[in-house]
Amino acid sequence: SQRTLVLLKPDTVRRGLVGEVLGRFEAKGLSIVAMEFRTIDGETADQHYAEHVERDFYPPLRDFVTSGPLVALVLEGDEAIEVVRALNGATDGRKALPGTIRGDLSLSNRENLVHGSDSPESADREIKIWFPDLP
Ligand code: ATP
Repeated sequence: SQRTLVLLKPDTVRRGLVGEVLGRFEAKGLSIVAMEFRTIDGETADQHYAEHVERDFYPPLRDFVTSGPLVALVLEGDEAIEVVRALNGATDGRKALPGTIRGDLSLSNRENLVHGSDSPESADREIKIWFPDLP
C-alpha cells in the first residue's frame, strides 16, 4: 500500500465540490489517513511548488492556492499515487478526459480542482510539508 498527498484546491471549496471530489476518492477505495481544512500562506505554497517557483505560470498559481481555504489530505491504498493521478485527469481541465475529476468538473488549466503527488519521492516530501507530525 502507498500514500499520496492530495489537495482539494480553493476552487473546489469555493464551488462547493469538496463532497463530490472527496466522494470519488472514497468510492474508489482509497482511505483517508489525514485531512485538514486550512488557508496557506505564500511561503507554504513556495515549499509545496518548489519545482515551479521560477515558472511563468507560478505567480498567479501562488495567488490562487493562497486565495482561500483548501483541503489537504493524505490518501492511502494500493498504487495510490498513480490511481489518484488517473482519477484527477490531465492538468488542463479543458483537455482532461470525461470521467476524470478535472475532465468532468474543470474548464481551466490553473483552477483544476485537485493536486496529487507525482512520485513516491514527491509524496514523501509533500506529506512532510503538510502533515509533519503524521506517523
Ligand atoms: P498537480 O501537480 O497540481 O497535481 P499536475 O501535476 O497535473 O498538477 P503540474 O505541471 O505539476 O500539473 O502543475 C502544477 C499546477 O500548476 C497545476 O495543477 C495547475 O494548477 C498549474 N499549472 C500548470 N501548468 C499551468 C499553466 N500552463 N498555466 C496555468 N497554470 C498551470
